Amino acid sequence: MSSTKPDSITTEAVEARSNFLSSMIQTHLEEGRHQTVVTRFPPEPNGYLHIGHAKSICLNFGLAARFGGRCHLRFDDTNPVAEDVEYVESIQNDVRWLGFDWGEHLYFASDYFEQMYAWAEDLIRGGKAYVDSQSIDEIRAGRGSLTEAGTASPFRDRGVEENLDLFRRMRAGEFGDGTHVLRAKIDMGNPNMLMRDPLLYRIRHAHHHRTGDAWCIYPMYDYAHCLEDAIEHITHSICTLEFENNRELYDWLMDNVDVPAQPRQYEFARLALSYTMMSKRKLLKLVKQGTVSGWDDPRMPTLAGLRRRGYPASAIRAFCDLIGVSKANSRVDFAKLEYAVRTDLNPEVPRVMAIVDPLKVVITNYPEGSDDLGQVEQLDAALYPHDVPKEGSRAVPFAREIYIERDDFMRDPPKAYRRMAPGREIRLRYAYFVTCNSVIEDADGNVIEVHCTYDPATRGGAAPDGRKVKGTIHWVAAPTALPAEFRVYDQLFAVEVPDDDFEQQLNPASLSVQHGVVEPSVASDAPGTRYQFERTGYFISDTVDSKPGALVFNRIVALRDSWAKQTEAKAAPELTDVTAPSPPPKAPDTRPKKLSKTEIRTRIRADDPDLAARYARYQAELGLEEGDADLLSGSTALAEFFEAALAAYDAVDAVTRWIVNEVMRVSEDGDVAALPFGGAAVARVAQLVDEGRLSATAGKEVITILAEQGGDPDAIVEAQGLEQVSDEAALAKAVDAVLAANAGQVARFRDGNPQLLGFFIGNVMKETGGKADPKLTRALLQARLQG
Ligand code: ATP
Ligand code: MG
Repeated sequence: MSSTKPDSITTEAVEARSNFLSSMIQTHLEEGRHQTVVTRFPPEPNGYLHIGHAKSICLNFGLAARFGGRCHLRFDDTNPVAEDVEYVESIQNDVRWLGFDWGEHLYFASDYFEQMYAWAEDLIRGGKAYVDSQSIDEIRAGRGSLTEAGTASPFRDRGVEENLDLFRRMRAGEFGDGTHVLRAKIDMGNPNMLMRDPLLYRIRHAHHHRTGDAWCIYPMYDYAHCLEDAIEHITHSICTLEFENNRELYDWLMDNVDVPAQPRQYEFARLALSYTMMSKRKLLKLVKQGTVSGWDDPRMPTLAGLRRRGYPASAIRAFCDLIGVSKANSRVDFAKLEYAVRTDLNPEVPRVMAIVDPLKVVITNYPEGSDDLGQVEQLDAALYPHDVPKEGSRAVPFAREIYIERDDFMRDPPKAYRRMAPGREIRLRYAYFVTCNSVIEDADGNVIEVHCTYDPATRGGAAPDGRKVKGTIHWVAAPTALPAEFRVYDQLFAVEVPDDDFEQQLNPASLSVQHGVVEPSVASDAPGTRYQFERTGYFISDTVDSKPGALVFNRIVALRDSWAKQTEAKAAPELTDVTAPSPPPKAPDTRPKKLSKTEIRTRIRADDPDLAARYARYQAELGLEEGDADLLSGSTALAEFFEAALAAYDAVDAVTRWIVNEVMRVSEDGDVAALPFGGAAVARVAQLVDEGRLSATAGKEVITILAEQGGDPDAIVEAQGLEQVSDEAALAKAVDAVLAANAGQVARFRDGNPQLLGFFIGNVMKETGGKADPKLTRALLQARLQG
């Protein structure tokens, strides 16, 4: 695939909201630490990209674009076993579809194998790496645990010449898989287990999709990734939080290998979405087992699946911007993604009429006509609603026989029902008023046809005498209707958080196929055209299966169905079977009915237009989930508290979460007026956590203290010593105290027991209540113990 313009950018990316990474990079540039920003998106080509990757892509390409730098697309193809060219191609395709361009900066880690190998030999020569001939199980057992130091391998002290010889023979293919590995010689007592002589290379006699059989040793992720970054002069190597502990090894390698640049690693929270999962390995399993039709099955969270489902790339970018970037892992409600999709589609796509579950209606007083199709008249129908600033209309044929949705007719409806029912006059959209006079049923009592009369004077949908009707429904004329298949999707999983048992957690109703009709105006549209089928949902003609004469539409996303909610809330009691014998009369219940909190808030808003407007705005403008918007607009005090917090720190997600979880925890039923602190204080806590100056646990502690005594978060952090200690003078005090209290161990260390370093680090951690910056602690200890 050829690349187009170098470093091209999308406007949304440039305008994306600020986050802790963009603020940090801004500072780096201002301080002259970097002149230009170079990021990378580094997928392993072992599967298709998913929506989680989209977050990383938008972030990395977005940051580069924002600061006029560049972003590389680099395939991290260091593991030959699971990787494949199919994935290399699909990934490029998906990144480009998302709207990003790496220009000439397409790289493959496998192109650096020779250089990585040479650096490994350098480490061996410097006494910083050795060949370990233990089995993988022995190595694992020797790593120790979080509470126990590891034990040194019997091969740890092999001489340089022996190591070099063995490593070269590993490369030459003299040994079988698993017989030897190359390990860094760091510290078996390090509290960070990843620093206990990590593996750098392993033997894998496997064919690589790019290097073929040239290699039978392959570098491990931790060794390879930082070197790749350094070779490409990446300035900011951004990864997800699980790699926080790996940063120490990243830095160690940067310090101990003669690399041409000094990239640094920064972590952010990965995206997790409810009702789905994001692991290429697990998704591959679904593909392989045929649970889904392929990587591009429209139920898959892959970009290929979402694209086929009809999600526009712009909606996915908007979603990534909406959820923001923080350092706190959390699960995003799938509804938020759907919200972004609706918001994107609403002003763009034409409205047409389709019937997913048809019920035939005969308009008995409409002329029969003489030609084959009977009488057909053309009505003019706008393609866009009034509030969409787009022009255009299409002709919609009307005839004596039409189809309506089966659930737009009810034989014995409740009063509030605003659709077709016996004896009621309603409007057929763009057409006429009709009144249902009779119903035809099959032997089992199912309605199979409905007969109506129409009022010819209401053509276009208005009565000259100004009379009103109870509702408007959509329809499709039968003689000119195009048959169509509708694929209506629901979540792939039935549980909110699928786990390792995901194969047992599938939603059996994730796909329902229905056969109906669509108006003829769509006949010649290309596959992949999106529509709003009025009152039904957003749909796209399937790019794979839809053919002229055999149309197939995927439902992209439903419209909000206000009727369903209304039915649940109010109409349900009226739907009881009136023909059943009535129950014996009960004494009237005089107790006040207990309302749920949501019901109470709904009532409050019904009387308070200002809160009602906030409720709508929190969802539409801030992108809050319905539940959070409901809670935060439940009282003026809480809404003002929330808005004050946002004014102090413009990070909607973090602020919302801290209020919804923590402020609710410390307040009585959300009575924030009674709290001794305000929104700005919570905002400050959220910000300190996002900036990594406070752990989430410490943040919660600050909220607890605020609730007890009020005050200023920064002052509390300082008074309680909650900030991660990275101040050298403060740490030095703790280090000295530990050394003074353990004179015996200090002597043993100096007598040649370097593994005791871990013991000292552990004690400094204890001394500081776990707040010491581990790297600095280590450096201080080393300086003093060697001095
Ligand atoms: P998977 O487990 O799905 O294979 P991965 O992290 O192993 O994910 P990579 O191909 O190694 O997949 O990921 C490429 C980049 O995308 C990495 O920088 C990774 O941090 C990022 N990434 C992967 N999943 C997510 C996610 N859910 N949210 C944000 N970024 C992600
Ligand atoms: Mg991976």
